[in-house]
Amino acid sequence: MKCIYCGFADTKVADKRTSEQGDISRRRRECLKCGKRFTTYEKAEKAEIFVIKKDGEKKEFDREKLEKSIKSACGKRPVSETQIVDILDDIEMRLTNRNTNIVSTSELGRLVLTRIKKLDLVAYMRFASVFLDFEDLEDFQQEISKLK
Ligand SMILES: [Zn+2]
Repeated sequence: MKCIYCGFADTKVADKRTSEQGDISRRRRECLKCGKRFTTYEKAEKAEIFVIKKDGEKKEFDREKLEKSIKSACGKRPVSETQIVDILDDIEMRLTNRNTNIVSTSELGRLVLTRIKKLDLVAYMRFASVFLDFEDLEDFQQEISKLK
């Protein structure tokens, strides 16, 4: 955050108290060069990602929902909470850094699957069976045979 008086690039937050008004937070900052103080209003920018379902329905990417489905696939399996959070962070970062903000459900499913596969095969199969939209049973059986 640049100083509004002298343009110096480094400022510190002078007042740790931030007042949240909706999604805007207000901060007092102090320039490290000239020492002047000013207030900034910061809005957390969250890139919106949309998930397109097979029937064309467009929904906002829901990290919590994805977390729930990963967790249920990993139920009673040796996959830790941290590993699941890592998967979610990794996927979210990947989706945010692309030049499109749209992802299809099957693409999203595959992003999860390639990561779960490295952790636990049973969780992988569970997730595959509920999340991936296998065209028909044959596809699913092919996936299983690839694992053997
Ligand atoms: Zn300054």
